[in-house]
Amino acid sequence: MPEILIVGAGIGGLTAAIGLRRIGRSVSVIEKATTLGEVGAGLSLWPNALRALDELGVGEAVRAAGVSAVSRGGLRRPSGQWLRHRHPDDIPVLMVHRADLHRTLLDALPADCVRTNATVTEVKQATGGVDVMYRTHDGIRQKEAELVVAADGVHSTVRQQLWPETTKACFDGRSTWRAVTDGILEPAEEAITLARDQQFGLLPLPNGRLYWFLTAAVERQGIRYDDELGEVRRRVGHWHDPIPGILAVTAPSAVLHHDITTLAPLETYVSGRVVLLGDAAHAQSPDLGQGACQAIEDAVVLASALATEHDLDSALERYDQERRPRTQTIAQAAQRQAKLTQANFWAMTSAARLLPRSLWRRQTARWVDWSPPSL
Ligand SMILES: Cc1cc2nc3c(=O)[nH]c(=O)nc-3n(C[C@H](O)[C@H](O)[C@H](O)COP(=O)(O)OP(=O)(O)OC[C@H]3O[C@@H](n4cnc5c(N)ncnc54)[C@H](O)[C@@H]3O)c2cc1C
Repeated sequence: MPEILIVGAGIGGLTAAIGLRRIGRSVSVIEKATTLGEVGAGLSLWPNALRALDELGVGEAVRAAGVSAVSRGGLRRPSGQWLRHRHPDDIPVLMVHRADLHRTLLDALPADCVRTNATVTEVKQATGGVDVMYRTHDGIRQKEAELVVAADGVHSTVRQQLWPETTKACFDGRSTWRAVTDGILEPAEEAITLARDQQFGLLPLPNGRLYWFLTAAVERQGIRYDDELGEVRRRVGHWHDPIPGILAVTAPSAVLHHDITTLAPLETYVSGRVVLLGDAAHAQSPDLGQGACQAIEDAVVLASALATEHDLDSALERYDQERRPRTQTIAQAAQRQAKLTQANFWAMTSAARLLPRSLWRRQTARWVDWSPPSL
């Protein structure tokens, strides 16, 4: 049977591989990194993503690797004052270490499914399929595929080549610092602490570790510090407990610093026999914690469309019709959320304090109340 080739072994590429194998398709994944893995940070998986992972047959294994939390339940001010406390009715998230999620997804695939140290350099539409050129340690190679799934992230090579009119991913004016603490800590109450131009989040991970992130407006893209942890301390080290203590037990080498980049809405996720998935299609700001969740949803919908539509073109059209509106609406909502916090901080904190719990919950439920098609 002709093969489907997936570019990129991130969360999007691996879940797509699992879904496509589950419907009986022959799949290979090409990944440019020499070793497989994810960055050392936490990830919140909302119920929509967990339902999709169930459909992929890995939901239980992922739940076993995570711990339950409430991502937007507790909100505080830098002084420590609570704007909202978490509540049993808040929508739960599963917090996982990215590396654990990645390992769990890889375990669901045969060892020879993912080829590392191979960088896709060019894709060409051909009669009945796609020719893919990729670079390995011993030169350029070529492979034919019936379909290419480009899950190669926000700076997607495939998108830049086949969607040349699309603007590149763009810097949204903020940077993010993230780390996972080592060792076992006293459980700290999970919360997001809001200031006008920066937010500090604290969330649990299994085995007594904690995941923290700082998102902050910065002067320009690409600023880096010799001492990234020192910069985080300078910004929020005087905020409420337990933030100073948690920074004190964070290893400097554990701190990751990235600029936030997003993608303008595309007119289509499909070009001939090439389809975009995950951040390659709809990279969004992390404000709703839905980027990876949406990549996982993409994977299930793509597999379902290929399993049920009578031909490839109809399947790809259905994928595009189902995924584009939802993912772009969520990406725009994430951007609005980011702007609201910065431009109208007073309104944001008033809403956090005063909005009835049912309305607060409904805001999140809009993105999370989604059920996958069955595979
Ligand atoms: C600070 C921050 C916090 C976030 N928090 C959350 C959260 O809590 N919950 C959530 O759901 N989402 C969150 N996200 C979003 C989430 O991280 C992304 O949406 C998700 O990781 C995208 O996965 P992906 O597989 O599409 O892309 P990527 O993870 O970028 O994977 C792309 C893969 O393709 C490979 N690749 C690239 N180019 C090539 C090439 N030419 N050839 C071969 N391989 C290639 C790369 O090496 C990489 O392995 C967050 C994002 C940020 C920045």
